[in-house]
Amino acid sequence: MSLGGLEAGGTKWVCAIGDGPDDLRETITFPTTTPGETIARAAEFFMDNGGVDALGIGSFGPIDVRRSSPTWGRITTTPKPGWRDTELGSALETALGVPVAFDTDVNAAALGEQRWGAAAGLETFCYITVGTGIGGGGMANGRLLHGLLHPEFGHMRIPHDRARDPFDGVCPFHGDCFEGLASGEAIRERSGRPAEALEDPAAWELEAEYLALGLVNVVCTLSPQRIILGGGVPKRQGLFPLIRERLQELLAGYLDAPELTASIDGYLVAPALGDRSGVLGAIELARGARA
Ligand code: ZN
Repeated sequence: MSLGGLEAGGTKWVCAIGDGPDDLRETITFPTTTPGETIARAAEFFMDNGGVDALGIGSFGPIDVRRSSPTWGRITTTPKPGWRDTELGSALETALGVPVAFDTDVNAAALGEQRWGAAAGLETFCYITVGTGIGGGGMANGRLLHGLLHPEFGHMRIPHDRARDPFDGVCPFHGDCFEGLASGEAIRERSGRPAEALEDPAAWELEAEYLALGLVNVVCTLSPQRIILGGGVPKRQGLFPLIRERLQELLAGYLDAPELTASIDGYLVAPALGDRSGVLGAIELARGARA
């Protein structure tokens, strides 16, 4: 039995065939170009490597994950040029002729972390990625978070002190939403350099402030047992302690749980699977599609 996983990101796609972290038989990473070219390249990879019995896709979004919907499997209102209303799930289902499970990239990553990583044993937790954009997913009571559509943590509104930060934000829909202020793209636009080249301590304090503001909303609305913070931006040395400290200050002792006080180092954590949470979670989605 052969399971395929596809992490379809806005800048790159990762495909893998295997059964888990210790059994990834084939993997490939390639840049996201046009929909036609990128989808064809993924289909080719799976077919050239013997095919798969089921495929799991964790995709950038927004996407339609409602299985009963006529537009299931579609990337919908993305601002990414050329990708609006792209058939992804059904295109690969047709090309490969196997069952396809289709979910958000962050839900896939959450599933991977629950199966093999930092959320093992938990039923209610969140996985948030801060990279070019900001996305969030996770589980509530052991089930991946869906609903009307799917959560869009990146587009919640957070306080914006324009005296401290006059930057308007980068979200094409909302300007200064969470993603608009705190994503890697926001850092790049505000400072004129990519996050990995940003050294100004005040800029990183501002980033920690925004991330803590977003996270306090997540803690208060979803009551996650743990938050996994992935993506490129949180890899910044010393950022996690700043966020944890500010998160505690913002919560102001209201929520009475040791996880948020003495044990906060184990509450807000990096992904245990590193950059492979998404593609491994996609493989786990495939396992569910096959069953
Ligand atoms: Zn937005």
